[in-house]
This record gives sequence, structure tokens and C-alpha cells, in this order.
Amino acid sequence: MTDRYAVIGNPVAHSKSPMIHAVFAGLTLQDMTYEAILAPPDGFAATVRAFISAGGRGMNVTVPFKREACALADTRSPRAEAAKAVNTLIFSPAGIHGDNTDGLGLVADLTRNLGFQLAGKRILLLGAGGAARGVMLPLLAERPAALTLANRTADKARQLLAEFSPHAGGCTMDAGGFEGLAGRQFDLVINATAASLTDEAPPLPGGLYAPGSLAYDMVYGRETPFLTAARTQGAARLADGLGMLVEQAAESFFLWRGVRPPTAPVLAQLRGK
Ligand code: NDP
Repeated sequence: MTDRYAVIGNPVAHSKSPMIHAVFAGLTLQDMTYEAILAPPDGFAATVRAFISAGGRGMNVTVPFKREACALADTRSPRAEAAKAVNTLIFSPAGIHGDNTDGLGLVADLTRNLGFQLAGKRILLLGAGGAARGVMLPLLAERPAALTLANRTADKARQLLAEFSPHAGGCTMDAGGFEGLAGRQFDLVINATAASLTDEAPPLPGGLYAPGSLAYDMVYGRETPFLTAARTQGAARLADGLGMLVEQAAESFFLWRGVRPPTAPVLAQLRGK
């Protein structure tokens, strides 16, 4: 019988996940379907359970349900536990397992697709919401020299620092608001705020970009105000979050199917190349 998977969110019609997973399934000869399911704001758990009853094997979870998915799961991976957010659900007779592949997707995009190694680098992570939280452990696992967290609400960045500093290893960590960044330089600046969604850029001081630095926006599909500002401020390279999206999907696919799909053909297709 064909195995069923889906992405669940609200809204979800815009999701590229059905197309990405259809290409993965074709490339790896997996007998599966993947659909988009809209859940009402107060109906996440019921929608998941209905999908399980209908034979569903797994789901991706997107806005605004990642935290609820974490609570719904019977068991969670350590990275999902740390992120307090789940973007991948795996259904089995033993129950619902939750994982989070967003951070692995970001690191895979940076290191494999963009050839940007993180060991020894100075990283600035902007934002302290679910996306920032989800990438903390995988970023620290790459052993950067320093990780600075900056957020509009500075206390939320400090809270994130307090939670993750036990995992710092040899990495120097600090946290605060945007204004405290004046006079500092970074090799990688990651925008994990939602500012790009309203065509805004976080109000950053000038001079942040070290020679050879990369500016990375998790939002994808266009050059965002953050990326435009980074270009004028001297970032050597710019990247959007499309590669992260495809790589996190590949990690989910691997968790479900035990097969690692090639990501380059999908990325090229999405970029229209
Ligand atoms: P959350 O709502 O959890 O967090 C939003 C964050 O953005 C907060 O830190 C908030 O600051 C900050 N923020 C919002 N508006 C502004 C603004 N105008 N200026 C400065 N900071 C602002 O969202 P998520 O963390 O879940 O998502 C963040 C972004 O990452 C989204 O744009 C999402 O699309 C993207 N994303 C991309 C993925 C990919 O695969 N490419 C995967 C996951 C997320 P404050 O605390 O002060 O409110």
C-alpha cells in the first residue's frame, strides 16, 4: 500500500513541501504520497489524529503548530527537546515521535551547498523565536569560535543564551539587543527574525560584516531588505533560506524512509535553473 505523508499548517497552501517530497520520492523510487493539510487554529491535534487513523505515516509541521507538535509527541529527539519545537512527526504503533530537522537543514545548506564551514567562525544569530531556538544545537555542534544572539526584545535573546550555554563547548556566547552590536564584526550573520515577512530589516548598526563574510536570511524567494542592507554594508556573499528548506525536508525524508535523497536537483528546480 502507498504510504501517506503530509505537511500540516495554517496557512499551508503556499507550501513547497509537497513538490519537494514528490521529487525526492521519484528520485529514490519510494512508494508514497505527500499532501498539504490545513488545520484550524484550534484543531491541530484532532487533524493529526485523523490523518493517523487514515493510515498516515508521518507529517511535517509548519507555522503556527511547531510548539503544539512538540507537546503532542509521545517521545522527542534531544534536538526537538532543546528546540521546544517539532517540525517532523513519525507515526508508529508505539506512538508519535517528534523531531526537529530545521537546524540540520541550515547547517547542511551552509556547509554543503554554500561551502561555508562554521568551525572557528564568529556567528551572529538575529532573532530569538522558534527558528533561532531550533538551530542553536546544530550550530554549536559545528564548533564556531563565537556565537552572539541579538533580538528586538533583548531579554528573549538572554533567555536563549541561558538555556543553551551548557552546550557551548569552547564557543564564546553572548546575547543582547541590536544596539549592543555596534563596533563588532562577524563572519556569518543569520537572520532568523520574521522581519523579512513584512519587508523590514532588523535595525542593525553598520560595520558588522568582516571580509569574506556571509549574510544568510532564513526567508526565501527574494532578496529581502536584510540581504539588500547586508550587500551595501559589505557582506561578501548573500544567501536566502531556500537551501535550508530543501535540506530540512531531506532530513525529514531520511527519518521516515531511511533513504537520503539528493537535494541538488530539487534546489535547481526551485531556483528555476
Ligand atoms: P517567531 O514568531 O517564533 O519569532 C519571530 C522573531 O522575529 C522574534 O525573535 C521577533 O522578535 C523577531 N521579529 C519579528 N518582527 C521583527 C522586526 N520587524 N524586526 C526585528 N525582529 C523582528 O518566528 P520563527 O522563529 O518561527 O520564524 C522566523 C523566520 O524564519 C520566519 O520568517 C520563517 O519564515 C523563517 N523560517 C525559515 C525556515 C526555512 O526552512 N527556510 C525554517 C523556519 C523558519 P521579538 O522577540 O522582539 O518579537
